[in-house]
Amino acid sequence: MSKATSIMAKNISSVGEFGFIDLIRKRMSTSGSVLKGIGDDAAVVSLSPGKKMLLTTDMLLEGAHFTLTMPPSGIGHKAMAVNISDIAAMGGVPKYALVSLGAPPNLPLDYLLKIYQAMDKTAQQYGVSIVGGDTIKSSKLIINVAMVGEADEEKIVYRSGAKVGDRIFVTGRLGSSLKSGRHLTFVPRLKESQYLVKHFKPTAMIDISDGLVGDLGHILKESRVGAVLSEDAIPRYPDASLKNALYDGEDFELIFTVPFKQAEKLKRIKMPFRFYEIGEITDQERQCSIVGKDGVRQKITVKGYTHF
Ligand SMILES: [Mg+2]
Repeated sequence: MSKATSIMAKNISSVGEFGFIDLIRKRMSTSGSVLKGIGDDAAVVSLSPGKKMLLTTDMLLEGAHFTLTMPPSGIGHKAMAVNISDIAAMGGVPKYALVSLGAPPNLPLDYLLKIYQAMDKTAQQYGVSIVGGDTIKSSKLIINVAMVGEADEEKIVYRSGAKVGDRIFVTGRLGSSLKSGRHLTFVPRLKESQYLVKHFKPTAMIDISDGLVGDLGHILKESRVGAVLSEDAIPRYPDASLKNALYDGEDFELIFTVPFKQAEKLKRIKMPFRFYEIGEITDQERQCSIVGKDGVRQKITVKGYTHF
C-alpha cells in the first residue's frame, strides 16, 4: 500500500494524538521569524520592534458554522481567513496562528489533513505561520484558531472612533454568503485594510461577520453615534436581496468610516481597490435608518446574528 492510500484508509484514532501531531508538523510551513514551531511546550517567535501585538480567536463548530458535507478545503480556508479578517479589521498584519481541534475519533484522517492543508495554504498566502495548537477527542468537529498579529500603534483602528459627519464605506458586495457558499471562499480584506491605514485615516473599522446592520451597530454603540444608509448605494450580489445584504452576515467585508474630506479623496483618486460609500454617521446615538429608492427615510432595527 502506498503512503497516500494508507492515509486515505485511516481515521484519526488509528494514528493517535501524537501520530496526528507528527503528520501535521511535517506538513505545516513556517516563516523565518518562527524560532520554534510545533514540537515543544510552547512556540517561540520574534515580534517586530516597536509594534503592538494584536490577539484574536475564532471557533468553528460542526453543525453551527459548517457541516461535514462541505469541502474540507473550504472549512480550512474559512477557519484561518476569519481570523485574518479580524486582524485586518484592526488595521494590523497577521503573523502567527495556533490551531486547536476537537475531532470525533472515527473522522477520516484524510479529511482532517485536507482541512490542515487548506489552513496552511491560506495562512501562507497572508504571511501567517501555524506554530502550534491542541487536539482533543470530541463528539463533533470543532476548529479553533487563535491568531497573533501586529500593528503600529497609530495605525490601529478601533470601533469607537466614528464621528458625526464621517462617511461609511464597505470593501465589497454583500448578502447570501452562506446560501451561495461564498463564506467558504471569501477573501479576507488584508490588502485593502493595509492600503487604507497607510494612505488614509479610518476613524472606525469592523469586519462583517454578523451582518452589515449588526456589525455597523457595534461601531454605532462604541462610537456613540448613529447612521443613515442609502439603499441604492449598498453593493450586493445578484443573488442577494436588500434584506440579505443588510442582515445575512458572514460576508467578511470591512465596514469603515472616514471624515468627509478623506471620503472625497477616497472617491477621487485612482486606487487598486473598489470601496463603496453607503452612508453617513449621524448624532442620533445607536439609531440607524435607510433612505429607500423612493427617497423615503425609514428606521431599521440594529440587530445582527447572535449565538444565544
Ligand atoms: Mg470581527
